[in-house]
Amino acid sequence: MNSLLKNKNIVVMGVANNRSIAWGITKSLHNAGANLIFTNRQERSKQKLEKLLAQNEIDPTLIVSCDVADDESIVNAFQEIGEKVGTIHGLVHSVAFANRDELNGEYADTSRDGYLLAQNISSYSLVAVTREAKKLMTEGGGIVTQTYLGAERVVPNYNVMGVAKAALEASVRYLAEDVGKYGIRVNAVSAGPIRTLSAKGVSGFNDKMSVIEEKAPLRRQIDQDQVGDATAFLLSDMARGVTGDVLHVDSGFHIIA
Ligand code: NDP
Repeated sequence: MNSLLKNKNIVVMGVANNRSIAWGITKSLHNAGANLIFTNRQERSKQKLEKLLAQNEIDPTLIVSCDVADDESIVNAFQEIGEKVGTIHGLVHSVAFANRDELNGEYADTSRDGYLLAQNISSYSLVAVTREAKKLMTEGGGIVTQTYLGAERVVPNYNVMGVAKAALEASVRYLAEDVGKYGIRVNAVSAGPIRTLSAKGVSGFNDKMSVIEEKAPLRRQIDQDQVGDATAFLLSDMARGVTGDVLHVDSGFHIIA
């Protein structure tokens, strides 16, 4: 336990189950003393989240539903958070989606619909939630999203999601400039591969994991807890001078040629 985020109200988007990166983040934020508000899309994810919270003796401040594909749903979710919680100090965006059949083969074969869907859920959603969250972040704070190396380099099969993550990282920079004047910082964590529900959709995912153990400077896998601690740092005052940045939590893999 530490008091890095004591009395801070933080919204976490994207816990689907105990393997979710957002669940690792939840544990780190709880250990840092934060009050936690959650959003889910699917009812099934909400039920899993409630069970996990009970098992881990974490008392949520609020759980609201939010489909990031739908502007009205986003507006309603943040309105409810504003009414029931008031000021928030942080937001974790850990949400992405692409059709499984776009995550293999050649990127050139990406369909228009598949491209727009990946951009919509995985990239535009950060813009839309930042717009609503900033209204509640009246004391400043931090927003952290989750990205992947496929934004910077060609990672086989990551295809349309790599391009969506590139847009997401550019959005982090543009949003950081917009909201910096309100004392709000926007950053991304670029995690190495972690076995989650979403990762299952990417062809050849096991190869991406094994190469980390072979080639990354630290020669060990990444887990949700490492990403959680880095996210907690970026949300906290310890990172008060950091915005518009991408912090790699990947055992150093991105520096290797
Ligand atoms: P999960 O499948 O556990 O989490 C993905 C989350 O996205 C789910 O909670 C899902 O909600 C949510 N989501 C999808 N569509 C929508 C929508 N329309 N509205 C609201 N929420 C939605 O996978 P991860 O934890 O792996 O993914 C979290 C983030 O981390 C993603 O951005 C991913 O790209 C990124 N990342 C993952 C890496 C990995 O190796 N796993 C590596 C680097 C980054 P629901 O269940 O309710 O549908």
